[in-house]
Amino acid sequence: MKKLLVLGAGTAGTMIVNRLRRRLDAGDWKITVVDQDDVHHYQPGYLFLPFGTYTPEQVTRARHVTLPDGVDFVIGDVDRVDAENRTVALTDGRTLDYDYLVIASGTTPRPDQTPGMLDSQWRRSIFDFYTFEGATALAQALREFDHGRLVVHITDMPIKCPVAPLEFTFLADAWLRERGVRDRVEITYVTPLPGAFTKPICSSTLGYLLDERKIALETDYLVERIDVETKALISYDEREVPFDLLVTVPLNMGADFVARSGLGDELNFVPVDKHTLQSKADPHIFAIGDASDIPASKAGSVAHFAVEVFTENFLELIDGKPMTGSFDGHANCFIESGDGKALLIDFNYETEPMAGKYPLPIVGPMSLLKETKANHLGKMGFRWVYWNVLLPGHSMPVPTHMSMLGKTPGGTAPTTPTL
Ligand SMILES: Cc1cc2nc3c(=O)[nH]c(=O)nc-3n(C[C@H](O)[C@H](O)[C@H](O)COP(=O)(O)OP(=O)(O)OC[C@H]3O[C@@H](n4cnc5c(N)ncnc54)[C@H](O)[C@@H]3O)c2cc1C
Repeated sequence: MKKLLVLGAGTAGTMIVNRLRRRLDAGDWKITVVDQDDVHHYQPGYLFLPFGTYTPEQVTRARHVTLPDGVDFVIGDVDRVDAENRTVALTDGRTLDYDYLVIASGTTPRPDQTPGMLDSQWRRSIFDFYTFEGATALAQALREFDHGRLVVHITDMPIKCPVAPLEFTFLADAWLRERGVRDRVEITYVTPLPGAFTKPICSSTLGYLLDERKIALETDYLVERIDVETKALISYDEREVPFDLLVTVPLNMGADFVARSGLGDELNFVPVDKHTLQSKADPHIFAIGDASDIPASKAGSVAHFAVEVFTENFLELIDGKPMTGSFDGHANCFIESGDGKALLIDFNYETEPMAGKYPLPIVGPMSLLKETKANHLGKMGFRWVYWNVLLPGHSMPVPTHMSMLGKTPGGTAPTTPTL
């Protein structure tokens, strides 16, 4: 019996075992997936918890119900991969062996990496929304916040869902307006990037939206420490950004076991071939989703498209054939902009986001790089799609590789978004 072992039953790991259990003969292949607990989180839902749009119950499910029959689910904390002997040790002393290993352990916010972040103001005036606990604690803090300086901050790139801090900023602006206190709040968006987003075309559109909403933008900002006495971010070039309420995205790092196993880079991400997701260190190991070092957004959509390519490649590989699929870095992300509207971007390793319609030319119904209500409805409908279509590993009516259909080649983003 051959053994496939998957580390992490989050978005990528769950899709992989659901897809491959249907494709691999149960008599020939044993599939095991390991995760540290039995709760699956719909992480895009964390964005909405602080504003009360979603309840905590709407973003979590028992993990075991998301996994198929015929897959062994091991609850345990991975300690180390021994690539030479093809075994994985768990911290409780158990050992699992494999023929092929998939590392799908994602990325985790690490507030411990910035001096001062976890000091006396953590969860008092310093919050994150990249964890379930952080997002629920922030909901309480926001309810009590009606004046002062709100600072939304990214510690460093890469982070998962790089648009989420901007979405949070737009939603906070709209929410404060609705409560009639926006005039009493100064909002500043602090980023290590030279503009509002990683992609230049997008950055100009999103920068425009920040200007329009009177949100100050502090760029090229690399935080050195947080001074909890004066309540200020201090950068390496000694710029101070004072706050009354800080919503930060701490440094994102891959799992510590990746480093302990000698399989990671300086942020514990696994170096892989960006087209096949195969580890550069060992051909029996793949890393899919946020755990890898591919130069694409760390996003559920990227994990989804990468899993589609990986599944077919893996079947070829175990059949002794060359892997013919090539992942192109395809990502698509909704960007909530407040007031019941959102933008949508679609891009890959080579191609910047472009204006146009998605997924169908002319009819859409979604519009690219443009604020529309249809995009917002798409974002809100996505939670259902996630639980019922994506996680169970069913196919979606969207192409795996980025398609130019419906796009305007050479077209640039409107500087004044039309609605
Ligand atoms: C606020 C927020 C908003 C987001 N919005 C969007 C969005 O709108 N669109 C989008 O596409 N993406 C979005 N994302 C990103 C998306 O959620 C992630 O990119 C996606 O979940 C990555 O999947 P993954 O399987 O790589 O990692 P995860 O889903 O994080 O799964 C990793 C799993 O590994 C397990 N694990 C880690 N270490 C160990 C260990 N030592 N032992 C055992 N198990 C371990 C974890 O418990 C976890 O279950 C958002 C994320 C956040 C935080």
